[in-house]
Amino acid sequence: MEFYDVHTHQILLEDNDDPYHSCIFDVYPLEFEVAKDSHQRHAFSCGIHPWYSEGSETQMTYLTEIAPNPRIVAIGETGIDRLKGPSFDVQIPLFKKHIELAEKLCKPLIIHCVKAWEELIYVYRELRPSQPSIIHGYRGRPELTKRLINEGFLFSIGDHLNVDSLPLIPMDRLFCETDEGDMSIRDVYLQTSQVLNMELDEFAEAVAANVRRVFPDLQPPKPYFLDEEELEE
Ligand SMILES: [Zn+2]
Repeated sequence: MEFYDVHTHQILLEDNDDPYHSCIFDVYPLEFEVAKDSHQRHAFSCGIHPWYSEGSETQMTYLTEIAPNPRIVAIGETGIDRLKGPSFDVQIPLFKKHIELAEKLCKPLIIHCVKAWEELIYVYRELRPSQPSIIHGYRGRPELTKRLINEGFLFSIGDHLNVDSLPLIPMDRLFCETDEGDMSIRDVYLQTSQVLNMELDEFAEAVAANVRRVFPDLQPPKPYFLDEEELEE
């Protein structure tokens, strides 16, 4: 089994961290130089969070310079948030710049969206980007989920999930993440597979196939084998 964490803000000690998964570590543009040397094994997503989109010109200029680096496997997290951050007049133009950059570099996008789904769909219909766009930490209701599936989005599931929506999402559009949560990636996989009534290894293989398709440059993790105790569970 291979576990992939497509969106996280936390990496434990490099030599000691969970050897059984591979992750996409989210960093700000100006953090990348240091992070890429201190986390040799990991890949990165790089962008400006909508909460901090005010006065982000320097970060955006720098992002444009570093984003072609092959260790940056996704642009973001970026997006729109109604509850936190500056007005949409600031957030949406910056979000569009991220989409344009991702298109230019042919890299997927990691999207943060809170209570701004109409705006998200509106921006996507306007720009019609072709790169895979993953809505991270997804836990929307079934009605919304159906709409977003129709719009072509992919979904990353974390510790909080919507049990009614999850089964609606096609298997080839699912990923898992730890974000800032306390739950390990293995437990996120386990919880998600249980809601889907799937065996853990069957679910992990389906997600791994999605990762290989969308993030072909992401290093595979060391395979995970159940030990005797787990086999007895
Ligand atoms: Zn995040």
